[in-house]
Amino acid sequence: MGLRLYNTLRRQVEPFEPLEPGGVRLYSCGPTVYGPSHIGNFRSYIFADVLRRYLAWSGYRVTWVMNITDVDDRIIRNATEAGLSIDELTGPHVATLAQDLGRLRIGPPDEMPRATEHVPDMARLISRLLERGHAYRTEDGSIFFRIDSWPAYGRLARLDPAQQRVGERVEADDYGKDDVRDFALWKAPKPGEPSWSTEVGEGRPGWHIECSAMSMRYLGDSFDLHTGGVDLIFPHHEDEIAQSEAATRRPFVRTWLHCAHLQMGGQKMARRDGNVARPADLYAQGFVPRALRFALLRVHYRAPIEFTDEALSDAAAAVTRLSTALAALDAYREDRPTDASLDDLLASTRERFGAAMDDDLNVSAALATVFDLVKEINRRLEERQLSTADAERTAAFIRDLDQVLAVAEDEDAELEEADRLLLDERAAAREARQWDRADELRAALRQHGVLVEDTRDGQRWRLATVEKRVCTPEPAGG
Ligand code: AMP
Ligand code: ZN
Repeated sequence: MGLRLYNTLRRQVEPFEPLEPGGVRLYSCGPTVYGPSHIGNFRSYIFADVLRRYLAWSGYRVTWVMNITDVDDRIIRNATEAGLSIDELTGPHVATLAQDLGRLRIGPPDEMPRATEHVPDMARLISRLLERGHAYRTEDGSIFFRIDSWPAYGRLARLDPAQQRVGERVEADDYGKDDVRDFALWKAPKPGEPSWSTEVGEGRPGWHIECSAMSMRYLGDSFDLHTGGVDLIFPHHEDEIAQSEAATRRPFVRTWLHCAHLQMGGQKMARRDGNVARPADLYAQGFVPRALRFALLRVHYRAPIEFTDEALSDAAAAVTRLSTALAALDAYREDRPTDASLDDLLASTRERFGAAMDDDLNVSAALATVFDLVKEINRRLEERQLSTADAERTAAFIRDLDQVLAVAEDEDAELEEADRLLLDERAAAREARQWDRADELRAALRQHGVLVEDTRDGQRWRLATVEKRVCTPEPAGG
């Protein structure tokens, strides 16, 4: 039937069709790097990543752009308070972000443009808006978008035209505006604040203009998909549409996609409310990144997630089930004819998986097909019903579906070299029937978070997911 997606613009699920056959252009609103991102932010990037992966899996060429907001009021305030330049403040957070994205197997996006490196693009766009009468300057040199000049304003957020701006990020310094609804494109310089010298004068960009300038720079005036959390519908995305379309007179984005929030304690996870968890906190508790990724993607993107310890432990158990099944398939050896019904099982799984994902990215249903398959395969392994080649084929099949989800194995689930040597030594010890030595080695590996199990296909290992990976002594007896 083909992919269908819920377009916030029309509040309905629509068939997805790229503007250009074969290629999809996708933009995601990325982080504001005044501090490290929390797992709520990562929910929105994982959602975009699953979308990108599914499009690629379905055969599209995907270009994915995610911006980094590295100048805004909070960044300036935090830098000033800490006595740092904005680069000095944001640099470490950008580095942490890259590491977090990598561990969670998000992207990397094809481009991650930084606002501070695209100020001339923003100025050019503002200049066009001034020329076309959609923007005006106030006495101090700030520039505002004139909402009155754009009758389509409010279409995305379904605003009552008389409604005033009630968004979260209404600029604090909006004095001198003609209309209270008008929003800042450009802010006049202030002493002690960073500013740029551009074709529209000296100053710094407002927040909204950066996403218009950077998305159009890399994806063209019109592109296919734009994602963000629901908090961005208004005013951020509403403003992006107005300023982009008013400047180019072309449709900006075909499909707007928004994910619901990750909550903790019944409320949106938000830095300013303090109810945040960061990936590093959870890894320090012994959870592997793919357990976190699983917890953040298993619920449909339009439904809120309440984040709890149990949900994460549950996710850890689920991803272990997947990696254990893959390890069992890899280790399996059986010289027997092929399992005649395997092809049908894999084909029907693939069909159900695709149908679920096509249905507005129904990841929960897609995961259910994978777990149904794993259950059935475990049974067939147990009963030695598969041939060696069948097992190989099945493992490749699961890894192929996991191109979309990226939860079955950690890309960095590499064994430490020392542990690999211990495993080899243990295999040799078993071969030589030195059981005591094999037990010792198993205990040593366990201390490193490598769990070893003996099966009739030989020893099998996996990295502990919940158990601490760090070397902690066994508790004293009793
Ligand atoms: P920010 O760093 O605040 O600019 O947000 C970056 C991205 O994270 C945006 O797409 C937000 O919509 C999204 N976001 C922020 N908080 C949450 C949350 N609690 N749950 C899901 N997405 C969020
Ligand atoms: Zn944005």
